[in-house]
Amino acid sequence: MADIMISTTNLTKVYNGKVTVDNVSLQIERGGIIGLVGQNGAGKTTLIRMLTGLVNPTSGSFKILPDCKRLPTDVAAIVEKPSIYSSMSALDNLTAQSILLGLKTDTEYLSATLKLVGLDPTLKRPVKNYSLGMKQRLAIAMTLVGKPQLLILDEPTNGLDPQGIADIREVFVKLNKDMGVTILISSHILSELGKFATEFYIMDKGQILKRVTADEIKNISGKRIRLYVDDTAKTLDTLKDMGKANICGDNQVMLATETPITQIMLSLAQAGVVVRNFVQVGDALEDYYLQIVRDARNPFSDNGGTL
Ligand code: ATP
Repeated sequence: MADIMISTTNLTKVYNGKVTVDNVSLQIERGGIIGLVGQNGAGKTTLIRMLTGLVNPTSGSFKILPDCKRLPTDVAAIVEKPSIYSSMSALDNLTAQSILLGLKTDTEYLSATLKLVGLDPTLKRPVKNYSLGMKQRLAIAMTLVGKPQLLILDEPTNGLDPQGIADIREVFVKLNKDMGVTILISSHILSELGKFATEFYIMDKGQILKRVTADEIKNISGKRIRLYVDDTAKTLDTLKDMGKANICGDNQVMLATETPITQIMLSLAQAGVVVRNFVQVGDALEDYYLQIVRDARNPFSDNGGTL
């Protein structure tokens, strides 16, 4: 039987008559990096705030780690600004957190935790002088003090530069792979989550529209390819049975297809078309997300399978 980390049943939050989280029922199993994706206002933060006990549901229920005897340290979260003592060093902050959690202070582990997130444990300067990126790393280190099994993070890379985002991503992957921590992480930046989450919950207008795994996204072979060719008419004719093709610029054809690229190139070469270049357009997760959200909002629209 799967080990369930989070289970919700018709979880609902209504603010001033407005349904913010709408009958969410989901089961998150141990072991993954789960991306909760949706645009601003979709209800991600509210869902996470309920799961972390910061607000009470209006109706419905949820269970965290229902299958085992849960310790308070088994779940850690960053939802709001983490409480960091700004006049203390990073290591002192971790030590204080350890005391707060009622744990025996293990300086070796705490130092290793700082190293894991890319901070120097010997750095004595107060964290108020840290950059935003360093503060974010410290916030993540703080969540690891109690060796949690489950981490819940609301937009943890907000405000970071691309390098900072990439570094933090590496930390999450390490935590997940090496330490077996299950991570629920919300973001509206799909391209970012798409790089490392193992499954996704697509949220829109308070509802979970779909759960999809990263492997499923990979296997959805529908893609759009922009081809730069010497003869657009011949290209359209050659590709007519391989997908939807149309001219999209001088010597350019856009093809929405499920045919492998090698097959496309072979057919064009056999037809004598010179392909100067080709690029795959868009991002698989983003395309999938847009399609699911659009279908939910306009159930009767004919999207022809492409966006
Ligand atoms: P964002 O990325 O912008 O935070 P989100 O998907 O996390 O978006 P929520 O923050 O959960 O979305 O907000 C969903 C809706 O609920 C918004 O319309 C917001 O204004 C409303 N909302 C959230 N918290 C409250 C509150 N405490 N009181 C009233 N309305 C609220």
